[in-house]
Amino acid sequence: MADIIYTLCGGTYINITNKCPCRCTFCIRSQGNAVGEAENLWFYGNEPSLDEIIKAVDDYGFENVDSVVFCGYGEPTERLDVLLATAKHLREINPSIKIRLNTNGLSDLINDRSTAQEIGKAFDVVSVSLNDPDSDSYDKVTRNIYPTKAFPAMLEFTKQCARFCPHVRMSVVDVIGEENIEKSRKIAESLGAEFVCRSFDNGR
Ligand code: SF4
Repeated sequence: MADIIYTLCGGTYINITNKCPCRCTFCIRSQGNAVGEAENLWFYGNEPSLDEIIKAVDDYGFENVDSVVFCGYGEPTERLDVLLATAKHLREINPSIKIRLNTNGLSDLINDRSTAQEIGKAFDVVSVSLNDPDSDSYDKVTRNIYPTKAFPAMLEFTKQCARFCPHVRMSVVDVIGEENIEKSRKIAESLGAEFVCRSFDNGR
């Protein structure tokens, strides 16, 4: 079984799936089997059950952990029920823990319904990868399975999430150039999200 819980640069992360509707050109998954202190983040088709994830959470001992991020070798909203149940369990065992979701923002397309309200209410922070400020560029870099539909769906998800979640972020990496960074900033702010521009040199 792959690592369900792992640490990276002092942070604690939860890996619940390898499924993802994208094949991003920059995806860290193509660079190795793990990141941080994880040994292996691939489940090889045997994704952990909710019981196995809950056991991993209980064994880890989140009572004294300040924050945790759902982010692994796949898109967490691919397993929405498991994601929400695990977040709820974390909140029960540690009411003050800060729970963040890192997502590609395509949950509504993945789950074929509006999911922002459930997600927004379950997390303290939702961080959406904006990547690029227009649909064509977004499709090229994410190589998603919903061409032309993904970008507007991701924007709508983010906008709706911001209604229910106290802190929604949208991120790009500085390789897209100044003009696109400014366009992206305007998009994020118009949706009620904090804009984050990350340095490529510090990793994506
Ligand atoms: S959305 Fe995330 S996990 Fe999926 S391909 Fe892109 S970077 Fe990788």
